Amino acid sequence: MPGNPGSTDVVVVGGGVVGCAAAYYLAGEGLSVTIVERDSVASHASGFAYGGLTPVMGIYIDDPLVALSAYADELHAELAESLPELTGVDTEYRAKPSLMLATRADEVPAIRELYEWLTEHHGGNIGWLEQRELRETEARLSPDIPAGMFTDISHEVEPYKFTLALAQAAESRGAEFRNAQVTGLKLNGGGGVEKVVLGDDEIAAHDVVLAMGPWSGEVGAWTGIDVPIGPLKGQLLRLAAPGDPLAISLSWSGNYATTKPDGLLWAGTTEEEAGFDENPSAEGRDQIMASLVKVLPYLADARLAQHTACLRPVAPDGLPIIGQVPNVPGAWLASGTGRKGILLGPGMGRVVADMIIGKTPEVDVSRLGLERFSEATD
Ligand SMILES: Cc1cc2nc3c(=O)[nH]c(=O)nc-3n(C[C@H](O)[C@H](O)[C@H](O)COP(=O)(O)OP(=O)(O)OC[C@H]3O[C@@H](n4cnc5c(N)ncnc54)[C@H](O)[C@@H]3O)c2cc1C
Repeated sequence: MPGNPGSTDVVVVGGGVVGCAAAYYLAGEGLSVTIVERDSVASHASGFAYGGLTPVMGIYIDDPLVALSAYADELHAELAESLPELTGVDTEYRAKPSLMLATRADEVPAIRELYEWLTEHHGGNIGWLEQRELRETEARLSPDIPAGMFTDISHEVEPYKFTLALAQAAESRGAEFRNAQVTGLKLNGGGGVEKVVLGDDEIAAHDVVLAMGPWSGEVGAWTGIDVPIGPLKGQLLRLAAPGDPLAISLSWSGNYATTKPDGLLWAGTTEEEAGFDENPSAEGRDQIMASLVKVLPYLADARLAQHTACLRPVAPDGLPIIGQVPNVPGAWLASGTGRKGILLGPGMGRVVADMIIGKTPEVDVSRLGLERFSEATD
């Protein structure tokens, strides 16, 4: 526990899934941690995501995200035990069989290729379903869907409860929360972190984890180092659907639908370049509904219970950024998780915590540092 509220071992900027995971693991290492969040825990994408945990795998096996994703998947299984024990919060972690659908004939070859790759490289239950078998699995699917792949490799959580549980578990390990906006960093003579500035106030810290989601670009003004992360808006609908819940999660062409434990059918999504606008829109709703009804025509009259929008943090190459800000000792970036932040959050948090305590991370993230952008342009 920090004896002096103006001083701590580590400040974590951002109370989303990445920041809360980092705080949880850092506090577990015995460090004093202060999480500074300007709104409230999980009040942006980490609280309004879909909550699907589908590991990144497939034919792009060389992608450094694959290893981080597998690592994060293992941590989720551990957290599914430890978080409810520590906090009493049910994060609604559960296995969720899923169908990846080809909605048009020209989408079949790519999904078939992934199916063949998974059958060869993955131990789980993977199946190829033609039109008739698809409808035996879920009778309400449109008869126009030509084929799909069944997998049992996915899990899910309720993202708000998961992030809240991480935050509470971090607190139970001694982390403290400050509801404030970080406005800058004070660096020492060697260019390293000395203080984190909160308007008129400041906290002395040895390290700072910058887990600011789509707002991570602000770090550029604080350090003089460009951080190319920006927002990609996505919207979700929660529907009161007629009939039985979906027994299986569905995904198609970047969209998805599932029935959650709250009894509502959650469906999404959009990918919109809309700056920092977090408002749901009628266009977004109509786009999601049009795509959903093509796959599940029975939902045409479903009642809209909730409509949300939030911002994914995205780097230009679509990969996360994790590691020290070059030439700024003590400043650690952890963001750019795009569409996979709920899955990757624990992995990002554990890796950055290991870097701070000087331990080699269990997963190789050497290709995920910020340096990759300057190396590319040198
Ligand atoms: C519609 C949608 C569906 C999604 N579905 C999934 C899914 O199914 N599975 C999955 O794995 N991922 C999903 N994601 C992605 C996931 O939600 C994000 O990648 C993840 O939540 C990002 O977490 P974060 O902690 O980096 O950012 P955020 O959740 O945005 O948290 C960052 C926090 O930092 C705070 N902050 C920023 N600047 C400052 C400052 N200067 N001072 C103080 N606080 C500051 C913000 O207020 C914010 O609370 C989805 C995203 C969207 C939009």
